[in-house]
Amino acid sequence: MRRRPRVALATVTFGLGLLVALVALAATEAHARPGGGNSYSGGGGGGGGGGGGGGGGGGGGDGVLGAFLWFIFSELPWPLKIAIIVVVVGFYIAKVTLGRQRRGWSSDDGTSWRVAPPAATSPAQSASALSTRRRLEDLRRFDPEFSVVLFEDFLYALYAHVRYATAGRAERLSAYLAPGVLERIRDAHVAEVHTVIVGALRFTGVRGLDDGAAQVEVDVEIESNVAVVVAAGQPEKTTYYMERWTLARRKGAHSRPPARARILACPGCGAPLDAVVEGTCTHCKRVVSGGDFDWVVRAARVVESQERGPMLTTEVPEQGNELPTVVDPAAQARCAVISQKDPFFQWPTFEARVGLVFREFQTAWTQRDLLQMRPYFTDALFDTQRYWVEAYRAQGLRNVTDGARIERLELARVVSDKWFDAVTVRLYATGLDYVVRDSDGKVARGSTSHNRPYTEYWTFIRGAARTGPTRTSPECPSCGAHLAVGMAGDCRYCRAKVTTGEFDWVLSRIEQDEAYTG
Ligand SMILES: [Zn+2]
Ligand SMILES: [Zn+2]
Repeated sequence: MRRRPRVALATVTFGLGLLVALVALAATEAHARPGGGNSYSGGGGGGGGGGGGGGGGGGGGDGVLGAFLWFIFSELPWPLKIAIIVVVVGFYIAKVTLGRQRRGWSSDDGTSWRVAPPAATSPAQSASALSTRRRLEDLRRFDPEFSVVLFEDFLYALYAHVRYATAGRAERLSAYLAPGVLERIRDAHVAEVHTVIVGALRFTGVRGLDDGAAQVEVDVEIESNVAVVVAAGQPEKTTYYMERWTLARRKGAHSRPPARARILACPGCGAPLDAVVEGTCTHCKRVVSGGDFDWVVRAARVVESQERGPMLTTEVPEQGNELPTVVDPAAQARCAVISQKDPFFQWPTFEARVGLVFREFQTAWTQRDLLQMRPYFTDALFDTQRYWVEAYRAQGLRNVTDGARIERLELARVVSDKWFDAVTVRLYATGLDYVVRDSDGKVARGSTSHNRPYTEYWTFIRGAARTGPTRTSPECPSCGAHLAVGMAGDCRYCRAKVTTGEFDWVLSRIEQDEAYTG
């Protein structure tokens, strides 16, 4: 959809094509989702394991801007149309020119951290969503243990619990769900929930941090794929969902430590979930569903749902490659803070670590070898990757990413909290990307001769207490043996769980460029 029109076309046709493209683009953006986001919501394989990344629904959009442009296009007299086209084409040429200048920019001038110049961040992109995440970090003023990384981990786990509960026993979640939300889940009737995969999670609003409110409220958008069996004996059905949740919590409540981030129990005393009946714990005798102790889902609604399985052989055009990098203005300064704590933390070695993870991931992805990719992913992200690898295997397909290589990395965001340092880079990569059928070796999607460039935002985390050299070859970061782990991410030799970030940088999020908001 964002592919540039062919240059050979005459100017007016070029302009018209562009206008149509802009209408389509506007429609997608108004939806705030990456239509077919290169695989998450089933839109195809994608960018060498980009499968875990951002979401994306199929189908067209219905944006207000799109409708407006259509109106202009169809209703206005020709002279006006041409005037608009001239303006649009001029804007486009200016954008391309600026883009070229930007690509020529290099920071290899002694500073070690490579970032796009701040001007490259589009104000529209950075203003709302980026600040939401940044403002959320402010919760640390009230609760120094709060970590956005862990909050996301918790949300992934809670979301999966809620979806699994649609097959029964929703009342177990009364500590975390407002009665209305619980009621809706009770009303959903499915026999069995097979798989719940969260593909994208975005913070869209935060309230109550800067006023006298006792609680903070957070809005989050979640995209998922859920496979269920509706009635016993019937085939499994996969549905793509886009949901909006609002969660609330007392500002000063204590966040849980990393080891307990994904465990749901009584928020007051830690008793098993079954101890909580209608929001009151039978063990600690307290009402725990009011947000006094932990996050509670106040509202949840499905914005969109589409029934479909993973469409692995559908070619979806790459989107968002040319978008400016969304750079957090504080990223570089925060890097410097980590470097002060750990002199080994420097761009070249971090870049080498990203390269290692990228290469191992590509090879493993192409081979459908889950164990080979396991050491480099956090639990939540690995679950997403596993879903895709198994989906390819189940359909007798293999997504080959031959010659995959990183062309460039840009620093986008750095967040440090009590538990983790998290570094987000925008990765510009290219390589072949095609799907081969196991049965006859024929290509079912993609090209075996043309590279497919793409960009994604990758977030790496490492324990805040960790310092020292990063591993840039496949060795256990704990014992140094050749890296071989079990499915749980534990080293075969020393048993250390190497996927928590406690020992070295591991990948915790992959987001598509058109979905990333900072
Ligand atoms: Zn309790
Ligand atoms: Zn080891």
